[in-house]
Amino acid sequence: MKKFTELTKDGGFLSSVEKTFNEAADLLGISEDLKTKVSVANATYIVRFGVRLRGRLFTFTGYRSVHSEHREPVKGGIRFSPFADQEEVEALAALMSYKCALVEIPFGGSKGALVIDPKEWEVHELERITRRFTQELAKRDLISPAQNVPAPDMGTGAREMAWMADEYKRLNPSELNTLACVTGKPVSKGGIRGRVEATGRGIQYALREAFRHDEDIKYASLDGKLAGKRVVVQGLGNVGYHAAKFLSEEDGCQITAVLERDGAVINDDGIDINALSTHLLETGGVKGFKGYVDDSATALGKECHIFIPAAMEGAIHSGNVEMVKANIIIEAANGPITYEANQVLRKKKCLIIPDLYANAGGVTVSYFEWVKNLSHIRFGRMQRREQEKQTIEMITAIEELTGKKFPSDHLKKIIEGPTEIDLVRSGLDDIMREGYQCMSERWHSNDSILDLRTAAMMIAIERIVDSYSSIGI
Ligand code: NAD
Repeated sequence: MKKFTELTKDGGFLSSVEKTFNEAADLLGISEDLKTKVSVANATYIVRFGVRLRGRLFTFTGYRSVHSEHREPVKGGIRFSPFADQEEVEALAALMSYKCALVEIPFGGSKGALVIDPKEWEVHELERITRRFTQELAKRDLISPAQNVPAPDMGTGAREMAWMADEYKRLNPSELNTLACVTGKPVSKGGIRGRVEATGRGIQYALREAFRHDEDIKYASLDGKLAGKRVVVQGLGNVGYHAAKFLSEEDGCQITAVLERDGAVINDDGIDINALSTHLLETGGVKGFKGYVDDSATALGKECHIFIPAAMEGAIHSGNVEMVKANIIIEAANGPITYEANQVLRKKKCLIIPDLYANAGGVTVSYFEWVKNLSHIRFGRMQRREQEKQTIEMITAIEELTGKKFPSDHLKKIIEGPTEIDLVRSGLDDIMREGYQCMSERWHSNDSILDLRTAAMMIAIERIVDSYSSIGI
């Protein structure tokens, strides 16, 4: 299997991010010196370490890039991937800085990777490798509640984050806030409800907000509501699965195709996402599922209203962009559209909801988790029952005044105060709505801003520059 970017003559992932950055920075008119300061990665560490396994000594390579420390801690996922390299982590770290600035999450940007195919290792072996990697990161303050807080990304999840948090705790037994050294942990290990599905949930909220912007929906030659729209998803992992599940179960969308590594599943009547995900987890692929075709490249050309690339960078490049027939593309993955492909889609008036906004749900709920870990108390814990008491008193008074009873089916929901998951969803929804609003407003404010991506990047750069200039840089 090749990296998508190897299939095209387009510039690499980092070059795509830099070109977008330059386009936006030029519109803002910022100096070349400042452009360089904001866009380069401050530091990229490469660690190599040995782990004795299967009677041999295996040497692994890991990366952690710190893009911008204008806010600390810096934040960003760690991916386990056989393709990871320095350019990839630097591009991802840069996107993290811009993403956090855009949605006003008070973190700088970072990203890490371990060059490994997790499928080649037993769980106990992966645990040893992850713990050794954590030791290497901890030695260099590349994992620390105050300085650098990793999270899950491709190939990692709550399990890996629990191992990392546990290893960090062992290395720092007297530190009070060790749980805040990583986010995306299981709830039983200091995680927060709603983090696992946060990025997919954010995609759903982002699309709902886009459909509240008539002008943007008209630009994409669409009208009406999100309900009934045909959706194609690429990559049914954490992000793709949750986005597809929520859109089909809660918003009335039809998932008509899912593209995976070993082929695609097509069904015009709508795919049962839970059944397909179970099949994928059990068999390692989508082959054998009803509607399977082995040519996922052709499935990329399936006409749809919304295309959700949720696999990896460079999926849509100048070699295949002409095939794409979607009104809206929402970049659930980081960097799925190359700069060159973006230019083509822009001319076709495809509404591209850019990665630095679209997949910000993950870091948003990670931020909530970090705050929860530092405050050592669950959101809503102190006020929930007091709120319940006050609501009961208000309802009793209304019932006495009107002589009428509240309908019992609504009563329970009205009375009980918000739980942790209610508050997480509320905070996430608010951030996703506001992020879209300011991005869309900026896009329409000036004819030379050609798309949401440029608008989003302009806002992010402005905020980072502002943060630098306030300390005299
Ligand atoms: P994941 O490993 O859970 O899922 C990735 C899925 O893509 C897998 O099902 C894999 O089989 C599939 N895939 C890989 N190569 C493919 C190919 N060539 N064609 C089709 N499918 C392919 O990863 P994830 O956590 O869902 O992350 C996916 C993307 O979202 C990445 O770009 C990641 O950086 C980004 N992202 C993730 C999060 C998060 O919270 N996990 C947050 C923000 C952004």
